[in-house]
Amino acid sequence: MEKGKVQRFLIGVGHPMATCQGAAFEYILNVAYEIKKRKLEEYADITWISNEWELGDFGMAGAYIKRGGYITSTKVFTESFFVERGIKWIKRAGVKKVEPGKVSYETLDGEMKEKEFDFAMLIPGFAGPGMKAFDKNDEDITSKVFAPNGFMKVDADYTPKPYEEWKVEDWPQTYQSPDHENMFAAGIAFAPPHSISKPRKSKNGTPIFPAPPRTGMPSGVIGKIVAENIAEWVKSGKPELKHKASMGKMGAACVVSAGYGMTKGAAATMTVQPIIPDWEKYPEYGRNIKNTMGEAGLAGHWLKWFMHYMFLHKAKGYPFWYLLPE
Ligand SMILES: Cc1cc2nc3c(=O)[nH]c(=O)nc-3n(C[C@H](O)[C@H](O)[C@H](O)COP(=O)(O)OP(=O)(O)OC[C@H]3O[C@@H](n4cnc5c(N)ncnc54)[C@H](O)[C@@H]3O)c2cc1C
Repeated sequence: MEKGKVQRFLIGVGHPMATCQGAAFEYILNVAYEIKKRKLEEYADITWISNEWELGDFGMAGAYIKRGGYITSTKVFTESFFVERGIKWIKRAGVKKVEPGKVSYETLDGEMKEKEFDFAMLIPGFAGPGMKAFDKNDEDITSKVFAPNGFMKVDADYTPKPYEEWKVEDWPQTYQSPDHENMFAAGIAFAPPHSISKPRKSKNGTPIFPAPPRTGMPSGVIGKIVAENIAEWVKSGKPELKHKASMGKMGAACVVSAGYGMTKGAAATMTVQPIIPDWEKYPEYGRNIKNTMGEAGLAGHWLKWFMHYMFLHKAKGYPFWYLLPE
């Protein structure tokens, strides 16, 4: 680019059902920021590719957020970020194949297309680590303990049901295995009952939609309640599992970095509550609009920077680590 040659960047998700769009979003904004810092925008052709129905879905079915006193959708929030930075986008696309310099993807309309790139960062499909499980008789019980995507089955309602019948009660609360009481799957290890975004298939039958992401804050909260339940069980001898943490009740905060720097950095700060939309309790927006908000600016970068040190302090068990929130 410094030699005056246009380079094509392709960033987003690299599987028809990949998730964690938030991480790719953060990545593309940082790439755009670094290019702008070097005054090379005119030589950069940056494209976002995603399986989302609309931008800002983020695998959590999008959200309506309070922003500067008015209510807006994460679609508008995300599109405005891209327009301001000259980023183009391809949505409703499932990447099927990645070759050097080229991706092949299918759209929800059933069309097969290609996109060439000089540099790409595409998030792979979300799956468990592929552990195997065997019982005392050495029988393979992997399919009983784990879902096909490799995540562990817990106290969720896995009964297949149409999208219209999904409820927040389908989501787990204690993360205990239904078959093995001494096994728990905290954080991203548990198998979700279904996606959060509406499932959609292309005309050729390919599912193209985001799988449910699980971010840091709920992972931390889940880890904490699982640890508390196990500790109390060990101490009292009774498996009461008093502590519960459903993603259908708890909120989550996420700070999306949009450029590093103490004076010129930026980040989008977003909170949603609950993580799983509850249309029965919040019929208007699916979430509690008082606690669902988003703002962007330099203060967000400072917050992310502060949290970086705060979480390392906590992870290392330094003085008063237990006072720090998830
Ligand atoms: C690029 C990126 C950006 C992200 N940005 C954000 C963000 O801004 N905000 C946010 O809230 N979330 C973010 N997330 C998500 C967040 O990082 C995860 O939700 C969170 O780390 C999950 O925590 P966990 O403890 O469940 O799993 P992990 O953090 O994945 O921890 C699992 C651990 O288990 C270890 N392990 C695996 N297999 C074995 C084995 N067989 N034996 C022993 N150890 C094993 C692994 O090495 C790992 O250390 C991001 C994720 C990514 C990838």
